[in-house]
Amino acid sequence: MPTYEYEHEGDGCEFGKVFQVDQLISEDALKVCPSCGQPVERLIGPTFISKPTSDSSLRDKGFAKLVKRDKGVYENVTAMDGESRYWHADKPETMPNIQKRISD
Ligand SMILES: [Zn+2]
Repeated sequence: MPTYEYEHEGDGCEFGKVFQVDQLISEDALKVCPSCGQPVERLIGPTFISKPTSDSSLRDKGFAKLVKRDKGVYENVTAMDGESRYWHADKPETMPNIQKRISD
């Protein structure tokens, strides 16, 4: 599955300015960030990463990576301890713990 990069128009999201999402080529581009709801723009892609980067090293660099598991369901494969690993579009309580990450 190709990886797309998205860039926020604004700042302050726990995913950082740019984040990655694995999507099928046939899927529509995201229009808003699944975490903060701000408008996002898809950067050039898809990017097939030939040299795999581990999820933990992405996390250590401050990146967040979402993998779509189902319609409206994303797995935060870079979730930190205590964070919900799955983000459901219709369940706000499953959103990643933004306060925790900011205070780190
Ligand atoms: Zn965001």
